[in-house]
Amino acid sequence: MTLRAPKYYLDFACIADRCKHSCCIGWEIDVDDAARRKYSALRGGYGEEIKKSICGNPPHFALREDDRCPHLDEHGLCRIIRELGEDYLCDICREHPRFYNSTTRGREVGLGISCEEACRILLSSDDYAEMIEIGEEDGEIFTDFDAVTEREKVYEILSDRNIPYAERLRAIAEKYGTAPEKLSDEEWKELISDLEYLDESHRELFSCYSSKTEPSPEIEPELERALAYFIYRHASPAENAEEFRAALGFSLFCERLLASIATKSTILDRARILSEEIEYSEDNTDAIKTEFWF
Ligand code: SF4
Repeated sequence: MTLRAPKYYLDFACIADRCKHSCCIGWEIDVDDAARRKYSALRGGYGEEIKKSICGNPPHFALREDDRCPHLDEHGLCRIIRELGEDYLCDICREHPRFYNSTTRGREVGLGISCEEACRILLSSDDYAEMIEIGEEDGEIFTDFDAVTEREKVYEILSDRNIPYAERLRAIAEKYGTAPEKLSDEEWKELISDLEYLDESHRELFSCYSSKTEPSPEIEPELERALAYFIYRHASPAENAEEFRAALGFSLFCERLLASIATKSTILDRARILSEEIEYSEDNTDAIKTEFWF
């Protein structure tokens, strides 16, 4: 089946030692079976270090006391790559920050904005609606609901810069019945405060949520691109109209939350934080999406 990606996908390359919020710090990295078999077959050398660093069930690299991956060196580079080459990375390290969705038009791949470099690229790319073929992938289509066509209709409204940004958002919400105003701001704030957080200070940051936020016009393009990303990631795998609607509602809510907490100078970092805290937690994502189910 065809593997497609937004055009900006090709611009991504991990910035490794220049990354300020490395995904090799603070996250426990699960080691898949194929990588574990490769590591088990290694004798001596750095292979012994790798084997010693794996623990638990599911097996993962045990973080050091300072929360760093044991294979991240003092220059921010991966020792597994340095000593053995990229072929020895486990799936998560090789794939991050990519995500995959199955759609009626084939498989789609994207970049998650919890990665600061992916976030920088996405929030500066206006070509979010332009898809390109980048290869072939195994996969099956489980639905005949055409979420990609629905997504294109939403993008058509979203990308029309002849219309004021706020009106475009309203038009999308009205067409699909997904305005975040379906809960009052007080109710959303209560929900936000009940979410789980990796960093407790973000509970307070997110408590500034207001559905009525009027962002400065200078960050509207970034907000538009961020919304396009949330829709691409969450609404594209929808298997029916109801799932699509809930994912769209979730995306519009994330846009409002980002608009509430970001300025021109902070938007890249705030988008990354929002992604890390909300999107990368299944519980948080579900808690918000649930509000958009009928
Ligand atoms: S967060 Fe992104 S840029 Fe940073 S180390 Fe991970 S993949 Fe590379």
